[in-house]
Amino acid sequence: MIVDRQGRRFRNLRISLTSACNYACTYCVPNGKRLVAAQDELSAEAMARGVAYLIEAAGIERLRITGGEPLVSPKLEAFMGAVGQMGLDDISLTTNGQLLARKLPLLVDAGIRRINVSLDTLDAAAFRGIARGGDLATVLDGMDQASAAGLKIKVNMVPLRGQNLDQVMPLLDYCLERGYELRFIELMRMGHLASDSNAFLQQFVSLQQLLSLIGERYEYQQADAPVDATAVRYAIPGRGHFGVIANESVPFCRTCSRLRLSSTGWLHGCLSSSNRHYVGDLLDKPRHQALPALQGLLMKALGDKQEVAFSGGATVMKIIGG
Ligand code: SAM
Repeated sequence: MIVDRQGRRFRNLRISLTSACNYACTYCVPNGKRLVAAQDELSAEAMARGVAYLIEAAGIERLRITGGEPLVSPKLEAFMGAVGQMGLDDISLTTNGQLLARKLPLLVDAGIRRINVSLDTLDAAAFRGIARGGDLATVLDGMDQASAAGLKIKVNMVPLRGQNLDQVMPLLDYCLERGYELRFIELMRMGHLASDSNAFLQQFVSLQQLLSLIGERYEYQQADAPVDATAVRYAIPGRGHFGVIANESVPFCRTCSRLRLSSTGWLHGCLSSSNRHYVGDLLDKPRHQALPALQGLLMKALGDKQEVAFSGGATVMKIIGG
């Protein structure tokens, strides 16, 4: 197993199935143009082989399928069919929820038990302003249907000063009432926000600010979370839980176990590093040739992790998978 000086190793793999997305969120895509699939994206078969090789070479235990928007990808069904057979402890998916109702039978058949749905506001006009695509009612209906089908739902919200701070409490209540766990994601210095400090600071909302806001209405206490969890988790007694992925306020680099594979075959060991390692060609090779080469690249990718804190990165989240 490949382990670094801090005892970190890769356990969690995030696959960006495609860089295409039906949204163009303001904090992700600055020019408002929706991203399309890259010309040189890997096939579903090559990606599934990548997962199999990474299970063996890195000891991957859990897989999250993300993007771009994974539900827009024509590769979804073939990929899910293949990775469902690999004996992973957990397979989950992050989606904006726009196509959730339509793709639900496929997800359920493939054995998906939990999903994260990104939703930044319950206000339809603000939704259009932030997501610049899709429709709020469709997302809410998709979550209702997924929940009725037995899927566990976490909702990801990026709080943004001046855009959706007034939605923190409505979204929290909405989630508590339905048994969804709301996860606030502190804005990250990714893509254009890595170089535009003003834009970042103007919009950034910290863990402490969120807790103050929530504390005005609810009593909460810190709850247990796995050692390598990225979220700080809180319980509101008698109501449910919420979490905060506090990249800036409580960096989790020291225990980070994530590895990312982009839709075009690049391994990223750290969101905050511009280093990446091409493995697309290895995925067409037989196991005995691919694995030794992969091990070398995994060592490099692990070496890309930050020691202590997340410092940001120029890569757009949609390319690398959030
Ligand atoms: N399309 C899917 C979705 O919307 O969930 C998956 C990909 S999206 C890039 C994954 C997550 O990254 C979303 O929850 C999104 O809000 C988050 N994200 C994107 N850019 C971000 C940034 N600069 N800071 C914090 N979160 C970001």
